[in-house]
Amino acid sequence: METIQHWIGGKPYERAAERHGEVFDPATGQVQAKVAYATPAEVDAAIDAAAEALPAWRTTSLARRTKILFAFRELVDKKKEAIAAILTREHGKVFSDALGEVNRGLEVIEFACGIADLIKGEFSENVSTEVDTYAIRQPLGVVAGITPFNFPAMVPMWMYPIAIACGNTFVLKPSERDPSAAVYCAELFREAGLPPGVLNVVHGDKVAVDRILEHPAVQAISFVGSTPIARYIYETGTKHGKRVQALGGAKNHMIVLPDADMELAADAAVGAGYGSAGERCMAISVIVAVGDAGDRLVPALRERIAKLKTGPGMEPSSEMGPLITRAHRDKVKSYVDAGVDAGARLVMDGRGIRVPGHEDGFFLGPCLFDSVKPEMSIYQDEIFGPVLGVVRVGTYDEAMKLVHAHPYGNGVAIFTNDGGAARKFVAEVEVGMVGVNVPIPVPMAYYSFGGWKASLFGDLHIYGRDGVRFYTRTKAVTSRWPDPRFRGVDLGFPQNK
Ligand code: NAD
Repeated sequence: METIQHWIGGKPYERAAERHGEVFDPATGQVQAKVAYATPAEVDAAIDAAAEALPAWRTTSLARRTKILFAFRELVDKKKEAIAAILTREHGKVFSDALGEVNRGLEVIEFACGIADLIKGEFSENVSTEVDTYAIRQPLGVVAGITPFNFPAMVPMWMYPIAIACGNTFVLKPSERDPSAAVYCAELFREAGLPPGVLNVVHGDKVAVDRILEHPAVQAISFVGSTPIARYIYETGTKHGKRVQALGGAKNHMIVLPDADMELAADAAVGAGYGSAGERCMAISVIVAVGDAGDRLVPALRERIAKLKTGPGMEPSSEMGPLITRAHRDKVKSYVDAGVDAGARLVMDGRGIRVPGHEDGFFLGPCLFDSVKPEMSIYQDEIFGPVLGVVRVGTYDEAMKLVHAHPYGNGVAIFTNDGGAARKFVAEVEVGMVGVNVPIPVPMAYYSFGGWKASLFGDLHIYGRDGVRFYTRTKAVTSRWPDPRFRGVDLGFPQNK
């Protein structure tokens, strides 16, 4: 059986793994590969490779860095179907959804191609007589990324293209559950001309993460994953003097006002609730139906959910794939049991699903609850599966109270035809990403992504201009040239080298 290896210094790591984990095909439930788990010494080898590559990379001209980024962009675009197939094979999401993931990652690479403009500093002439001040943005050095299973290509792309464009070198620790896409993309970046050691990938578990957290050469860490681990990464990383941004979990609410277009709202809620089997940090997991909205919305949801096709991700007719592991599927199922026990009304029950020919796959059909109460675990916890709950409230104010009382603050949406209500909502709501008649408001690559409250620890959001700020530090220079003269004559047309 194949062992998925680390990628260090521009090539696959050659030593046999001392520790390893198993990678499943979630559609069949079978182990399809082993993945090496890095020891602290192997993490050190990746960090050493990044440190060795740093002096040359951080002084590589912007023109050259941009060319390599463009070449990488072209290769990812050309190979996006191959990347998507890897995602479907290891994560389980349906192929069309996997392709969407690659396209959203590609947009961040495209943003990073504009680094020459993004990294520009500031200049003030004559702050005092013949004295000028300017500020430049410089890379931090070796930086690291630790990423979750649910977007194995896109979330790493939120990080390393921008970090590398800024002149840093990078060590990525992707999820051990679906590790292949990260290595495949690192190979493409190498093929695009990235020097060895600028991007390294180490696989593993807490052992690898803990070494990254304490290693003195690592200057900054970007983390995306669940809230308990995000808090741990933030606290431990900052204790070791590192800059840290740690994005956590979510429980995204969709408020539906009585004047909303219920057909539109139902389409949106089903797409956002069950897409990728609910394993998205921006998935809608709670619908807050205001006034009589629930009476019209719940039947419309039920009608749509009944038609959803759950099956293996490579099957073109499948709309929803399996969950990532058996343990996770069972955990999600146990939340459904708990919701029933607590008295919520289970309108659609996906627990009995059977996918012919894939009986051992980690499938769970879509589940819909009505009459969910805030004290229930299905309301409180991030379930991260195909389970949508409807909470009924009387007024807009009650809906807002719910959103504000919830510990998470990643994404939120409002569905209404009342522009004034929507505007008030946008101004008041304490959540990092807001959709108005848009259920999954993931910002474009040239804005930044991040939640509030327990959904993000740190000061800066990820990618976009915040990404450039996160991966650089400012140097302010004050200079006087009392006798300025230039020396040497060159009549040639100035060129970038
Ligand atoms: P996770 O927190 O279990 O794992 C994330 C990363 O942390 C992985 O690389 C994993 O190996 C590592 N890790 C796990 N346990 C660790 C430990 N005890 N010590 C050190 N490192 C550890 O998350 P997951 O299950 O892979 O992903 C799903 C979670 O990620 C959900 O909560 C989801 O909401 C969240 N997520 C958030 C965003 C966002 O942008 N806010 C985006 C995607 C996913």
